[in-house]
Parts: sequence; structure tokens; C-alpha cells
Amino acid sequence: MKKFKKIQKAEFGKIVEIHRYQEALLEVRERRFEKIQKKCEQFGHCLVLSINIPGANKRSALGKRIYFEAVRILRSKIGIKIILQEEFEHFDGNFCFFTFHLYRESLTRIKKLCIQIEENHFLGRFFDLDYYMVDEFEKTRSISRGNMNRELRKCYICSKMAKVCVKEKNHTEIELYEAMTKRVNQFKKWVNLWR
Ligand SMILES: [Zn+2]
Repeated sequence: MKKFKKIQKAEFGKIVEIHRYQEALLEVRERRFEKIQKKCEQFGHCLVLSINIPGANKRSALGKRIYFEAVRILRSKIGIKIILQEEFEHFDGNFCFFTFHLYRESLTRIKKLCIQIEENHFLGRFFDLDYYMVDEFEKTRSISRGNMNRELRKCYICSKMAKVCVKEKNHTEIELYEAMTKRVNQFKKWVNLWR
């Protein structure tokens, strides 16, 4: 009986912890969105780069490595003047805001580039490139994958849609993390071969 009580207490502690984590996550996301809104008010647009990392540990060395590669590839391919590059490290990972010197045709270029990087870079499936802009009602909104003519994301373990796997809980966090580690290690090997 004593043992049972102990387990219950531990379980309860875990629930409280998860709840606190989710609350903190909501708060940090809200504050981040306010920052995005400010950038959009100032510049009319904002590109937000973040990394898809499974599980609660969003600040791992692995996540950072992917993040730095995402920043590097975006900067090297963008081809238009970057006005602002602001980087953040929150407990839910690394983020980078970009604003550009935009011409009329630049928006199409940015959209195409985001799709290209996410879909064709070896680590692209872990990158999240979200473009925000002010709409005709002066509201900040993100341009969805549908608006950018790209398919919904595929899971990086099986070939189902990522959303389906999340909903059906098809893979454990450990499996996802292992798949991610494997891919990053493979990428590192290639990069070293080229050097
Ligand atoms: Zn899957």
C-alpha cells in the first residue's frame, strides 16, 4: 500500500511538471509571436527559422548543429539583402528572425527557397521556415504550407504524413531522436568528406 502511494505521488508530480512545461511553452510562444508582430509592423514581413526537435529537450547539441546548418544554408542561398537577423535561444530551442530588403518579386523567391531548402536539404525535414506578413486587415499571419504550394510534411521515420504520426503516436520520442541523430551523423560524415 505504501509503495502504491509513492507511485501515485510520483505520477502526480509528473503531471504537475508536464502542466508547468506546457504553460511555460504557451507563454514563450505568445511572447515570440508578439515579437514577430512587431517585426511585421516595422518591416511588413518576417521569416522565422526554427528546428523540429522531438521531446522536451529542445536545447540539445544535436538541435544546435541542425540550427546552425539551417542558418548557414538560408544565408548562403537567399540572394537578397538581409536587413535584420535576430537570434534567440529559448528553452524550446533556437530561433532566428530574418527581414529582407524586399522587391515585388522577392516574395515568390523567398517562398520557393523555403520550400526548396525544407524539401531538398539533407537535414531540411528538421527545419521549419515560416514566413509571416501583414495582411489586408493589418493582421500578422503566417503563410501556410498550402499557400506556399507545398505538400504537408512527411514523417522522417515512415512515409506517412507527419501530422498523422503525431496524432496516432506511431513513434516514441526515443525513436524519433535516434532517427534524427543518425541523419545528422550521416550529414557530418559527408561534410567531412568534402572538406
Ligand atoms: Zn511515421
